Amino acid sequence: MKKRVAVLGATGSIGKSSLDVISRNTGNFDVVLLSAHEKKSELEQLKENWPGAACVLCSQDGGKEKLLDAIGSVRPDITINGISGSAGLEPSLAAIEAGSDLALANKETIVMAGQFVLNAAKEKKVKIIPVDSEHSAVFHLIEAHSSKEISEIILTASGGPFRKLSLKEMEKATVQDALSHPTWKMGKKITIDSASMANKGLEIIEACYFFDMPVEKVKVVIHPQSVVHSMIRLCNGVIYAQLSKPDMRYPINDALFWPKTSALDLDMPDFDSLTLEFEKPDGKRFPMLDLARDAARQGGLYPCAYNAANEEAVSAFLDQRIGFLEIPRITSHVLESGWALHYRSIDEVLKADADARLKAVNYLKRMS
Ligand code: MG
Repeated sequence: MKKRVAVLGATGSIGKSSLDVISRNTGNFDVVLLSAHEKKSELEQLKENWPGAACVLCSQDGGKEKLLDAIGSVRPDITINGISGSAGLEPSLAAIEAGSDLALANKETIVMAGQFVLNAAKEKKVKIIPVDSEHSAVFHLIEAHSSKEISEIILTASGGPFRKLSLKEMEKATVQDALSHPTWKMGKKITIDSASMANKGLEIIEACYFFDMPVEKVKVVIHPQSVVHSMIRLCNGVIYAQLSKPDMRYPINDALFWPKTSALDLDMPDFDSLTLEFEKPDGKRFPMLDLARDAARQGGLYPCAYNAANEEAVSAFLDQRIGFLEIPRITSHVLESGWALHYRSIDEVLKADADARLKAVNYLKRMS
């Protein structure tokens, strides 16, 4: 039987890669729902290519509610969430509520409300399969070695465009500088997060929740070629890695077909000319890493506050209202306020998200 698939964030880079994987496997999948944030004409084009799919444009009046309702009434077998940022949380929960498995590229879902979301999935007996390339690698490595104890997760990071920049140079970095990622082609928000390494910070938090690991056991290593997607170290000291060219169609294909493995015929790395380098991340130049570790250690609503503060700071940077190094300053300021260590409802998470944004915006006002 064909799996009925919803693709949320269909016009973004995850959405496009997902539809490419699905179009290679039309015997296995039916697209039943497509959503986009604001690219109306692109969504209309997709409507023509996938006539069986309901389509929702989220930026329109009531668009968010329409999307949540559509997920509930369409009841997909699997939902690919490729929405950017905190806007992805409620659609993830709606999918779980509708009994849909979740192929999760939206890391904010786990960062903002990890324990809550994982519990909801357990209750509804749905599976969440990570599509973030690092977590997809770790997920499949753990599956392959499930009988042994995992002693460490090692997330790889490309280091982004500012890997070799001094703090002085970063202070002056422009939006254009930050948007030129060396290995991955992605949306604006995640590309800036890559430059500040906030993306890896979010991924540290994501890994702690997803794999139930204390933050001390989630390591980060810079690997500029983005060929090793992550590693696990077993209790016997042996390290296993997952390698492929940087292409999101691999983790999407693996999530869509899980628990099976299906052929995907893409170029493999050329070992004749391949050099793999690894280096230690510099916490001084990339303070978003340690701020994320602190937030993960605190737990509760701290990761949500970290994410909200960073989102506000990135949007101010993209609007050229602040310099690049203000991003960690704003985030650190917001985290200094006390945040609850426990929460019971998603409303509490959404309130913390709003509060953290307000604190970030007020700080921005004082700066200008
Ligand atoms: Mg990633």
